[in-house]
Amino acid sequence: MNKALDILIVDDRPENLLTLEHLLESPDLNIVRATSGQEALGLLLDHDFALVLLDVQMPDMDGFETAELMRGNKRTRHIPIIFVTANHTESKHIFRGYDSGAVDYLFKPLDAQMLLCKVRIFLEIHRQRQALQAKTRELDARIVELHQLQSELEEKNRQLQLLSSLDGLTGIPNRRQFDEMLGIEWNRMARERLPLSLVILDVDHFKLYNDRYGHLAGDSCLRRVATALAGLLRRPADMVARYGGEEFAAILPGTGLEGAKVVAESMRQAVASLGIEHQDSPVQSVVTVSLGLSAVVPLPGCAPADLLQAADQGLYQAKQEGRDRWISFDCVPAACTPVLT
Ligand SMILES: [Mg+2]
Repeated sequence: MNKALDILIVDDRPENLLTLEHLLESPDLNIVRATSGQEALGLLLDHDFALVLLDVQMPDMDGFETAELMRGNKRTRHIPIIFVTANHTESKHIFRGYDSGAVDYLFKPLDAQMLLCKVRIFLEIHRQRQALQAKTRELDARIVELHQLQSELEEKNRQLQLLSSLDGLTGIPNRRQFDEMLGIEWNRMARERLPLSLVILDVDHFKLYNDRYGHLAGDSCLRRVATALAGLLRRPADMVARYGGEEFAAILPGTGLEGAKVVAESMRQAVASLGIEHQDSPVQSVVTVSLGLSAVVPLPGCAPADLLQAADQGLYQAKQEGRDRWISFDCVPAACTPVLT
């Protein structure tokens, strides 16, 4: 069942209004009367009329003037008008500025059938327009909803990405992120012909630590080491990642061997000065680390794996030589240019 539509009838003579109302009377119409152009304009602002039947000959403000004022108002501009006139020549009057198809004429004396026919057509158009507007609003709402869903999805993806690039225990980048960044920085340094340094380090006798203090303490130890290491890096492109169980690795783009040695030494000192008790360590009574490092200017034919392997060799050697120290190891596969300074 359609909602009753508001329709405005305007005529300066009450008896004409009565006749019109009588002819139009229908349960699906709500007929509102006005006896002047001014009154009509006032009512137009309060109602959402589907159609206006407008007497042309009225004192003070005639039907055309009233329509002209309706056209000037955004709210009333698109309301269809049927002019009711006794003068046939006025049907030739071109009412400018109104949408074609939104204006029609009826002639007095009124032909009931003609009146109803025209009114029905306008009301049908109005209903269709309303349905279309409702659909448009619905679609707009759907679009807003879709945009919202999309940004929610993007945010979830971002969080996922972040989660999968960070190590769950220590909160610093994980191995996956390390490998990705190593590739990126490798290419960047190759383009810029700058050295790239790697530092790989291992917590000394971590198994003995876990055995003595338990795994919870072990986790806490790794978190503190990670935080201390991450806190040492100064440049935005520097990164330290959890590389394996108790193994960490740092990428230092644009840093040569000498700079990397400075970083390695501060890492060693930073971990030792945390003062994490390690009674069973043959090295010291606190937790220490061993480090290996290497530097290279990346060139075609030389791969990140070569640099990793060299730094790992350094780490191996540092352990061999008694731990709690760093050793630098040259990256010398055929194509690599080691940074020997
Ligand atoms: Mg009149």
